[in-house]
Amino acid sequence: MSSNNSTLQLAAKSSLLKGGTLPTVIAGPCSAESEEQMLQTARELQKDSRRVHIFRAGIWKPRTRPGMFEGVGRVGLEWLRTVKHETGLPTAVEVANTKHVEEALEYGVDILWVGARTTVNPFSVQEVADALKGVNIPVLVKNPVNPDLQLWLGALERLNLAGITDLGLIHRGFSTPNNKPYRNHPKWESIQQIRELAPGVPIFTDPSHIAGRRDLLQAVSQQALHLGVDGLMIETHINPAVALSDASQQVTPAGLDALLNSLDLDAEHVASAEQLQDLRMLIDKLDQELINTLFLRSDVSRRIGEYKKANGLDIFQADRWNQMVEKRLKAAQETGLEETLIRAIFDAIHVHSMGIQNEIFNTPVNSSKATEAVK
Ligand code: PEP
Ligand code: MN
Repeated sequence: MSSNNSTLQLAAKSSLLKGGTLPTVIAGPCSAESEEQMLQTARELQKDSRRVHIFRAGIWKPRTRPGMFEGVGRVGLEWLRTVKHETGLPTAVEVANTKHVEEALEYGVDILWVGARTTVNPFSVQEVADALKGVNIPVLVKNPVNPDLQLWLGALERLNLAGITDLGLIHRGFSTPNNKPYRNHPKWESIQQIRELAPGVPIFTDPSHIAGRRDLLQAVSQQALHLGVDGLMIETHINPAVALSDASQQVTPAGLDALLNSLDLDAEHVASAEQLQDLRMLIDKLDQELINTLFLRSDVSRRIGEYKKANGLDIFQADRWNQMVEKRLKAAQETGLEETLIRAIFDAIHVHSMGIQNEIFNTPVNSSKATEAVK
């Protein structure tokens, strides 16, 4: 199978798409923590929001560092089964190896997903695919942590070759040199790119892992819908403040309801004011961060001025300045930013810094005391 021209064999009708004209919503906690937490969350989701179609919960958690909460394992599958019996919601779980697949199937989980840290590893994806041979369960594949669309497509193909025809994609953002203000950069163009590589496969966006924080969930969800995704996966916890993983990005069921109600679901709205508003909100946040950074920088520059004065050094040190500009230009080049912009900004910053340091040099040592005395 050529990686550029995928020939996925897909089921005639995806069972992952529940929402009709509305987006399919997958909600539930990052991690299963207790039976009470699972049941309370699921009951609220079902009561408050008729828009939730699938209940998610992480049973085995792939954590970046050891020693963090790694999931409750098998017992969580029992709670999930109870959730399903009580609420009727189909359930979804992340799997990364044969044991996960076997246990999830044993407990009647309806949908599996492959996490971002698993999609990066073809050995792991192949292991999951092999464990699924002969079982045509719906499987969602999260994008790999790194922005490599071939790796994402390759995971779909491995599952497809193992007989899985009910496939979906989850766009959860990528690790990039600068993810700010996101936890994982959405690289919005990747939605259209993967759509072209895997035509006909439903695409979900996971605003929780893109945003990493509640206040950005709405803007990220809205942007994804503007780009025509089929559904959203949003982490929802009965009490996010005490969540054992991803506490800052989870919403309460009521919060999810408010978020879903606030979304503009009209696809015709694509380039309209709503999108502009969302983008302006992001610009406002970024500009505030720029101002905070400039403030911190000018304070450091003042301290350098004081050091130079105390040690009899010159204010302007040409070597240091040239090295600094070179470094900044190189860093900018890696992001694709234009050299003229970076030069102009750093020239302005430099003039300002020199001003601060000149003022320090021109202030007599005891001037503040002298002023005090005059007063
Ligand atoms: C998750 O869904 O809780 C998770 C671990 O996500 P990701 O694989 O996107 O990091
Ligand atoms: Mn999570």
